[in-house]
This record gives sequence, structure tokens and C-alpha cells, in this order.
Amino acid sequence: MEQYGATTNLSRQCGDVQSQLKVRKLKSEQSYAELIRLSRERSVMHSTLAILQWDAEICMPRGGVKHRGDQMALLAGLVHDRSTDPRIGELLSDVEGSSLVADAESEEAVNLRELRRDFDRETRLPRRLVEETARVSALSSQAWSEARDRDDFKSFAPFLDQTFVLAREKADALGYKDVRYDALLDDYEPDMTTAQLSALFEQLRSQLVPLVDALRDRPKGEHTRVPEREFPVERQRAFAEAAAAKLGFDLECGRFDLGPHPFCSMIGPGDVRIAARYQPGNLTNGFLGVMHETGHALYEQGLDPAHYGTPMGEAVSLGIHESQSRMWENLVGRTKGFWMHFYPQLQQAFERELGDVPLETFRAAMNQVAPGLIRVEADEVTYNLHIVIRFELERALLDGDLRAADVPAAWGERYRKYLGITPDNDRNGCLQDIHWSESLIGYFPTYTLGNVYAAQLFEAADRAIGPLEDAFAAGEFSTLRTWLGENIHRHGKRYRAAALVERVTGNPPNPSALIASLAHRYG
Ligand code: ZN
Repeated sequence: MEQYGATTNLSRQCGDVQSQLKVRKLKSEQSYAELIRLSRERSVMHSTLAILQWDAEICMPRGGVKHRGDQMALLAGLVHDRSTDPRIGELLSDVEGSSLVADAESEEAVNLRELRRDFDRETRLPRRLVEETARVSALSSQAWSEARDRDDFKSFAPFLDQTFVLAREKADALGYKDVRYDALLDDYEPDMTTAQLSALFEQLRSQLVPLVDALRDRPKGEHTRVPEREFPVERQRAFAEAAAAKLGFDLECGRFDLGPHPFCSMIGPGDVRIAARYQPGNLTNGFLGVMHETGHALYEQGLDPAHYGTPMGEAVSLGIHESQSRMWENLVGRTKGFWMHFYPQLQQAFERELGDVPLETFRAAMNQVAPGLIRVEADEVTYNLHIVIRFELERALLDGDLRAADVPAAWGERYRKYLGITPDNDRNGCLQDIHWSESLIGYFPTYTLGNVYAAQLFEAADRAIGPLEDAFAAGEFSTLRTWLGENIHRHGKRYRAAALVERVTGNPPNPSALIASLAHRYG
């Protein structure tokens, strides 16, 4: 009897535990569903900021800047309120440790991990700081644009100082272990540290400077004359847009505009926009700019729309984003195979200008290595040196070791040291980039990370599905696009950047593939 009774008690207890587990499971599922709903709403709100930003750069009249600053500050504040709602903290705690997220690579676990990270970071930032940063960015980018047009750094300097004061406050609010810069870098490249970056840059710099010096002394051939011809902008535009579509940019879900600088804007699923800039005297820059932005756009269009508004539907990091753009720009758009396919069409579009220029001359001109003052026009070899300079300067500005007023001199000194040239004015010097005016501090290094990742990923793709250049020569680009979609795009934020690179290539991120690729193609 007793035994029977004991069994009954036991089974009753088991029943209790089971129903408790069921309740817990149900609760974590409900909490998870609510988290996802809130995350989606937040993304939709955030995307309205993206369209305001796009509009400010593409069509807003100058007089609208003050009102736009107010709009963006208010919206940024509202997004911040929603992102830091204590309810999110409760929901995260409900789900953490539950069976729903037991598998660390499942979509639920990935979403939870990233939502927790975002929540913890956002809650450390005061609303006032978020609003103030949005407001100052709007005013500062306008001030930068006017200062650049007039080559008047002095008028921009107070904005630059203010931007770095706010950035310092942000870094201190977020917290960091070693150096302040780590806190900001983490926004763009989670898990990457200043120490790791410094080591990587040092490795690159020590091998690139001698390569640049060797190439500088090489005699220039006939080909240097090609870029000096005039190429009507409308025809450049038609050609570049057709090429982007051929690579797979979906025009049903995207559009092209002319902008003050090239960029790609993800407004939402089905709406990815490319802004391009063309100059009549330079065919290559405008075209490669479009190839670059197309790489960004293909990544955004390759994300799984079913996961929109959640980390599983978002890009891993800016470094990985940049690996996509740099790959299509440099490792595809500069290759012989690519131009074997496209050059006859280009010659047809510019019969008078290029009819007598052989393919090899055109390619040699496009791939010339020559230290220049402008980052976005830099060749592949010198490009990373432009980034090293910005990385060093923004760290000094952030720590207060450099004041805005001293930036032009510090800029000139480093260009002399690393590239052997000196800017003749600030327009071609420290006023050339929009980033600092938009409070994007810690962003520049992701360009070099993108080059590093791109070389590793392309090498892996070529091993798996190559030789890719033969495919390009045959006008076949979907093989690479599909491979990137399956290996990178579709995973959203499932893996952090370093883990993703290692998973796909077999090696952790390192500059060997980039250095080998540059030495092979240019050395
Ligand atoms: Zn880019």
C-alpha cells in the first residue's frame, strides 16, 4: 500500500514537475514571440530614420537641415525609449536558460544573444546623449559639406570637437576594458579590439609600404593617358546600372540615384538604394563605386526577408558588409575575366573615347598603383594606408590627445610619412570623408577588415566553385552570388565575424590572403 501510495505521490510529483516545465516552456515561447514583435517594430521605426537620412543626402533642400535635425533627434529618442523598455529586460530573462535557446546556433538562441547585447548596450546610454548625437550629426554633416565645398576647415572644427566630446561620453557610458576606442569599435565590429586591429594594421603596413615604394619607382607606360579622356556622365550611368543589374542587383527591390558620394541605403525589405557619383574625367571611379555599393546591396537583398527585423535577418558586422562590397569592386570588378565580358559593351557605349584602346591598356590604367590623396579613389594597394591614418587620428581625437584645430597638420604629416605625399588643401585632406561629421567613430577600420575578409572569402569561393574568373569571362556571376548567399548572407547574425570567416575559409581572420593577393596581382 505504502509503496503504491509512494508511487502515486511520485507520479503526482512528476506530473507537477511536468506541468511546471510545460508552463515554463509556454511562458518562454510567449516571451520570445513578444521580443520578436518588439524587435520588428523597432526595426521599422529605425528604417524611418534611414529614409530621413537618405532624403537628407539625396533631395532635401539646404534650408531643411534644422527641421531634419529635430526630426531625427526625436525619432532617435523614441527608438532609444523602445530599445531600453524594462519590459524587454523581463522578456529576455524569461527566455534565457530555457530549452527554447538550448542550441546556441538555433535562430532563437542567436536572436536572443544579439537582442541581449543590444539591450545591454542601449540601456547604458542616456536618452539625452542619443538625441544630442542625432541632432549634432545632422547639423555637423551639413557644416562639413559646406566646409568641404569652400575648403574651409575652420568652420567645421567646432563641430568636429563637439562630435568627439559626445563620442567620448558615449564610450565612457558603454564602458570598456582596455582602451576607450574598443567601446565604439564594438558598435560596428562586435568582439574586435583595438589591440587586435593595431596588430593587423602593423602587419599590413610593414608589407604594404615597401610594395608601394617599389611600384612608385616603376616606369609609367602609355596607359596613364586613358583616364584623362572625357566620358559623358549619362552614358557612364547607364553602363554602370546595367552592369549592377547583370551582377544580380534586383531593380524591382532597389533603385539608383545620384548623390554627393557613393553609398548604399537599406530602407527595408524590397527597398535597397544605391547612390552613385560620376565624374566626366574619370570613368573608373564612378564605375567601381557602383560595383562597391552593389556588393553592399546584394548582401542586403540576400538577407532572409522572413527574418526581417530580427538579428537573424541582419548583416553580421560592418567588416563583413564591407567584405562583400570590396569583393565585387576589387576581386570581381577589376579582373581580366570581368572585363573580357564587359569591355566590348563599354567600348560600344564609348566608341569615340575607347574605340582605339585595347582591353589590356584599359585594365592597366584601371589597376595603376599610385599613392593619392583621396581614399575613395585609392588603388587596392595603398587603400589600407589611408585607413591606418584615420584609425590613428580618431583614436587620438577620442582620447583628447589631438584637438580638431590640429587635425589638418596631423593629417598632412601622416600622409607624408605613409604615402609620401602632402595634401595641397583640406578639401583633398582631412575634409574629404563624411564619417566623422556623422558621428561614425570607430567605423573606418571596418574598411580594412572588409579587405582582409574579402580576400579570405574569395579564395575559399574560388577553391569551392572556381575558377571564378572563367565564369566572369563568360558573363556568369550568379555562381559567386549564390555561394555568398548560402555561406554568408542567409545566416544573418548567426555567427560573429571571426567565427563566420573561420567556418567558411578554415582560417581565423588574418591578412595573409590579402597580402598574397595584392603581391600576386601587383607585385
Ligand atoms: Zn562600403
